[in-house]
Amino acid sequence: MSFESIKLPPETEKALLQADSLWEKFRKDNFSPKRVVNSGDIPLRDNDYDVIVCGGNLGIFLATTLQMKGYKVAVIEKGLLRGREQEWNISRKELNCLLELGLLTEKELSEAIYTEYNPARIGFYKGYHLWVKDVLNIGVSPRILIAKIREKFEQLKGVVIENNSFENATVGIGGVEVKTNSQTLTCRLLIDCMGHFSPIVKQARRNQKPEGVCLVVGSCGKGFKENETGDLIYTFTPIINQYQYFWEAFPAKEGRTTYLFTYTDAKPERISLRKLMGEYLRLLPEYQNIALEEIEFKRFLFGFFPAYYQSPLQMPWDRIIAVGDSSGMQSPVSFGGFAAMLRHLPRLTTAIDEALQGDYLSCRDLVLIQPYQPNLSVTWLFQKTMMVADNKRLSGNEINQLMSAVFQVMAKMGQEVLKPFLQDVIQFAGLTKTLPQVDIRLVLPLLPDFPILLDWLRHYLNLGIYTGLYPLASSLKPLTTHLPPRAKYYYQRYLDMWQYGSGIA
Ligand SMILES: Cc1cc2nc3c(=O)[nH]c(=O)nc-3n(C[C@H](O)[C@H](O)[C@H](O)COP(=O)(O)OP(=O)(O)OC[C@H]3O[C@@H](n4cnc5c(N)ncnc54)[C@H](O)[C@@H]3O)c2cc1C
Repeated sequence: MSFESIKLPPETEKALLQADSLWEKFRKDNFSPKRVVNSGDIPLRDNDYDVIVCGGNLGIFLATTLQMKGYKVAVIEKGLLRGREQEWNISRKELNCLLELGLLTEKELSEAIYTEYNPARIGFYKGYHLWVKDVLNIGVSPRILIAKIREKFEQLKGVVIENNSFENATVGIGGVEVKTNSQTLTCRLLIDCMGHFSPIVKQARRNQKPEGVCLVVGSCGKGFKENETGDLIYTFTPIINQYQYFWEAFPAKEGRTTYLFTYTDAKPERISLRKLMGEYLRLLPEYQNIALEEIEFKRFLFGFFPAYYQSPLQMPWDRIIAVGDSSGMQSPVSFGGFAAMLRHLPRLTTAIDEALQGDYLSCRDLVLIQPYQPNLSVTWLFQKTMMVADNKRLSGNEINQLMSAVFQVMAKMGQEVLKPFLQDVIQFAGLTKTLPQVDIRLVLPLLPDFPILLDWLRHYLNLGIYTGLYPLASSLKPLTTHLPPRAKYYYQRYLDMWQYGSGIA
């Protein structure tokens, strides 16, 4: 069976068309953001809620930890609050935070885990291959996980308002008035967790185009002969039509999940998701050594992830903060937004709790909860070297050669360098040891333009400074007990910023 003869189910075709139309809008830049946030002098005192979280997918996690702290929290969700069928892959360390925060018991967590496998492969066309253990090796069911967390939230009297779409918000004196398609509610703090395409984010970013995009297409299906191991990042082709295709595979409850992903920018001529799906189906048999007719497809998956230099996003208003995909707190090379959220959940819970306690809810107070993180910003260089820019004339295997060389060096230096990199937590020591050992001749053809390089150098230096500042500043903690509460709040936020920004947490 040829890949052209594969008929996608009608509902997949429809969803793919919708996703492609959004992707096209991004590329053509012909939409202007609606003004959905206003500031006004309306006095808002006896608010309905302490916190309203708009968007329930990852929002329910933070809503529950805040409800557990005793706040009155509501979640407003456009559709129904239920995760998708397809598993989220994550590492055990990140998942354990759900136990540490008391969101789930061990039994509840184990019920949400569908698969656990080892090892996973990293490999590049005509290049280096290696195997690693315990990285993204657990597949959890978003549907079960979200149902369990929701149950806990509602037991604690948290309120879920489904089928209600956020329409606009007015930041007043003492609170925020939030309008949905059917009601008006007020709160002290509004948390935007409406994903990459949040209307609030569109306004805050002023219709800016993303500097990078990761396109992903894939499927989950049965019939694969080998399904014991996974691939974290794998290539078996050179650059094709200006794209380097990367592949990922995981054992899943309903068979095997395979993804094709590629990095690009948001120029109008970029490939559509439909075309990329065609490429995926064309190459899948070679990748997994299987004929298409042997696969019983359960579902097809696709999406695109815009990434902005200015990330995490700092909201320009009082009383509003973004978390999850809307905040851009995950790295531009990964589409592991669930994992990124869990990594930051303890920090976000404590920081928002302290902000609410002290009423530190001005824009200046809140931007410190989503501060600049050099360990995120340095990953932009990797994103740029993994994509083919318009002005680059490449003969074909340059990206594979560079990736191969980088992983070879990291593997030589051991797990303490390799693992943080694979889990999206870049650290100064690992990066400093790795870069000088990579053959400069492999790097040169892929280097981005000089201003980007200069900017990268700034982030790299900041990464070093943050790495030094964190232990120094934490050693001063005993001296801070007598500080006034606001100063304590600021000290703790800076400490978090240096800790997370240096990849130590
Ligand atoms: C194919 C694919 C595979 C992935 N695999 C992984 C993985 O293995 N591991 C991992 O960690 N991550 C993975 N991710 C990423 C992960 O799914 C996202 O990071 C995560 O879903 C982000 O959650 P979110 O709540 O921030 O945003 P979203 O998932 O976009 O959810 C936004 C929520 O807001 C609601 N909403 C939107 N607009 C409004 C409105 N106006 N009013 C009210 N509600 C609104 C939506 O209905 C939705 O519930 C994958 C993503 C894709 C597409």
